[in-house]
Amino acid sequence: MTRLGLGKDLHRLVKRRRFLLGGITIPAAKGELGHSDGDVLTHAVIDALLGAAGLGDIGELFPPTAPSFKDADSIGLLRIAFELVKKAGWRLINLDCVVCCEQPKLLPYRKDIRKSLAEALDVSIDQVFLKGKTGEGLGPVGKGKAVEALAVCLLERD
Ligand code: MG
Repeated sequence: MTRLGLGKDLHRLVKRRRFLLGGITIPAAKGELGHSDGDVLTHAVIDALLGAAGLGDIGELFPPTAPSFKDADSIGLLRIAFELVKKAGWRLINLDCVVCCEQPKLLPYRKDIRKSLAEALDVSIDQVFLKGKTGEGLGPVGKGKAVEALAVCLLERD
């Protein structure tokens, strides 16, 4: 059996915060605001995996009101969520992601981000892909006020 999962997230971009994508810190003027470390891509990935497995969503598993998740390492949360997915018998076939932001360009960091996510999910780098897009100057993403991430994954189980 195979199952498809979809995840989506958006975070405001503010000064004096790290810009984190898939556990990789990227030099930028602004970073993601969030209760956790704000890693928008990792949050979308968590929701895609949990959704495919029918195991809930990130807000249910890691409530944003819980003090224990203040400044939480999102890659750590991904590992916890994926453990649940694996425990239910699922294997990851592939993960494909899009990050939309006006600045900076993501291509120079793509390989590091893919490697970081692949390591957290214990799969090879060719099973994880990422595209960077802009908002074409339109909307909160285009105005540089937000960063958005989308993720789809395919899981299989015997
Ligand atoms: Mg989030």
